[in-house]
Amino acid sequence: MNRTIPDLPEDIDNIKGFLADDEALALYEAAYEMASTGPILEIGSYCGKSTIYLGLAARHGSGTVYALDHHRGSEEHQQGEFFHDPDLYDADGKQMDTFREFRRNMHRAGLNDTVVPVVSDSNTAARDWQTPLAMVFIDGGHSLDAALTDYRCWTPHLRRGGILAIHDIFTHAHAGGQAPHAIYQMALASGLFEGIERVNSLGLLRRV
Ligand code: MG
Repeated sequence: MNRTIPDLPEDIDNIKGFLADDEALALYEAAYEMASTGPILEIGSYCGKSTIYLGLAARHGSGTVYALDHHRGSEEHQQGEFFHDPDLYDADGKQMDTFREFRRNMHRAGLNDTVVPVVSDSNTAARDWQTPLAMVFIDGGHSLDAALTDYRCWTPHLRRGGILAIHDIFTHAHAGGQAPHAIYQMALASGLFEGIERVNSLGLLRRV
């Protein structure tokens, strides 16, 4: 738990999700810096753990976080897969449903006026999007197709000076899937971004 962050819920460590403390703090600080310059977009909110860090930072700058997720879980969350959580399975609908838990967590964190959920896949949500973004956090599906879609749909909306954050960057395949690493390398090679820092599996870049 990051005790340096004001208003962080006491039970933040009990919120379902995959975010290390050092990554959470780096995300919070990046969002804190950017929040007054434009909206923040998070791709892949799951139950809202990282959304809470982004939201608390955004609130200081009277900013807004758009939290994009279809809430049906990524490949690794499906039944029979390693990261499946039966508590988040809608037995009637026979599919994952993380939105109920997400809403509950935003409400309990007092972030309903800061976080705007966008319940959709990335492609559909991007179709008519025109608002320049101050920060984009890519934490969606880990297939190459999903990561590339997120990168291609949303980085063009990042304003100059804005921050691109990518989660789950693993340099070696034995530590995790390579798609986030691939788009991180793609961003660096594009000439459109310069690296700011790496914190654990989080990569932070700035749009030049
Ligand atoms: Mg992640």
